[in-house]
Amino acid sequence: APAPPPGRHLFSEPAEVEALRRNLLAWYDRCKRDLPWRALAATEPDADRRGYAVWVSEIMLQQTQVATVIDYYNRWMQKWPTLQALARASLEVSVAGAGCSLCPWLSVNTVLCLSEQEVNELWAGLGYYSRGKRLQEAARKVVSELAGRMPRTAEELQQLLPGVGRYTAGAIASISYGQATGAVDGNVIRVLCRLRCIGADSSSPAVVDRLWDMANVLVDRSRPGDFNQALMELGATVCVPKAPLCGECPVKQHCQAWRRKLFGKAPPVPDVEDCGVGDCPLCLPATEPWDSSLGVTNFPRKAAKKPPRAMRTATCVLERRGCHGAPEYLIVQRPSSGLLAGLWEFPSLPLAQDLQEEKEREQLADHLQAWMGRPVAAKGLQFIGEVIHIFSHIHQTYVVYSLHLDGDVTLDPALSPSRWVTEDEFHASAVSTAMKKV
Ligand code: SF4
Repeated sequence: APAPPPGRHLFSEPAEVEALRRNLLAWYDRCKRDLPWRALAATEPDADRRGYAVWVSEIMLQQTQVATVIDYYNRWMQKWPTLQALARASLEVSVAGAGCSLCPWLSVNTVLCLSEQEVNELWAGLGYYSRGKRLQEAARKVVSELAGRMPRTAEELQQLLPGVGRYTAGAIASISYGQATGAVDGNVIRVLCRLRCIGADSSSPAVVDRLWDMANVLVDRSRPGDFNQALMELGATVCVPKAPLCGECPVKQHCQAWRRKLFGKAPPVPDVEDCGVGDCPLCLPATEPWDSSLGVTNFPRKAAKKPPRAMRTATCVLERRGCHGAPEYLIVQRPSSGLLAGLWEFPSLPLAQDLQEEKEREQLADHLQAWMGRPVAAKGLQFIGEVIHIFSHIHQTYVVYSLHLDGDVTLDPALSPSRWVTEDEFHASAVSTAMKKV
């Protein structure tokens, strides 16, 4: 077993733990933001619906800001207010025979699955689209295999629900069912690392395990859900990444990073210095020691991130006159796995880097020809401009062309689903933010 970390990285005094819980919860009661899922979790008598609401909010909040999520959450809960409603959405479609990738017991075919489409439409703009799909899959599992009853503990939630990891399980179990278990997300990692001067790589498994142990020790036994939300709220509003508001912090008297900053210029004080043992697995690394210009933001530290991969994609806005004279545009569906799975886009083609413009046009023309079953002249493609969109791990450049078509076009039904849409229909479809920019 690894050696226990030095005491300064732990909360080993019960009196301090009690005081921290008290101060944090008092602050939360005064300052917490009014959020729709919090209101529901506090007032809803049906335990399964409480669990479902917190689950939806937690999945939406992964990698997305609270302010963005509120609208999506409200619309989602209006459309599918219960697990049963969400699960039923896909069952009805599969009974009607329109198989989709969510309905493994029916063969997948090219008929558009309406429920998957609806989930994608509602999710469009939130990013990481597979989250919506996984939520729907898991809802079906709860209804068909667990008789509609949500698992009540973090262990069972993580074990039984696809797409529910350790954090989400801890959040649902503590907020909806009062289980005294920690929930460690990015905000909590930052707060805990600062409270206990943990400067080792906060994404390493050893440090993550220590932080979970700490969260499980700290969580208030009588108000675990509020305590976890308070710790996250503190990270989101006070102990923020770049300029934390330490002066207003309700737990600053328990914060080692704050003490170290205060005493930073004074002669060394034993309990605010690094452990001094040289190989402490939780201290700042000797190669990158405390930098007094950074203050508390010395913590947390992370291993350097890989730079995003650069990609170029040619995309063509194909336009025709619709039967009522209004312009219509061709959109096609992306594959059901991978980046932006199942979403709709203008016909697009990934390009090799450093390809000359003439070559780009030729390749795009060939690609369009496959869609339309007739030759497309590369010269007819009009270059419109470039659109840059940053995904978390990809720096994507769309090279945008347009082409006006005369007469009717017969699309090849053997290819992925495709359809002609008006501008309004385009905006109401499950298209990504990047395609809206295009
Ligand atoms: Fe974060 Fe500052 Fe509070 Fe410490 S005192 S927990 S660094 S806001």
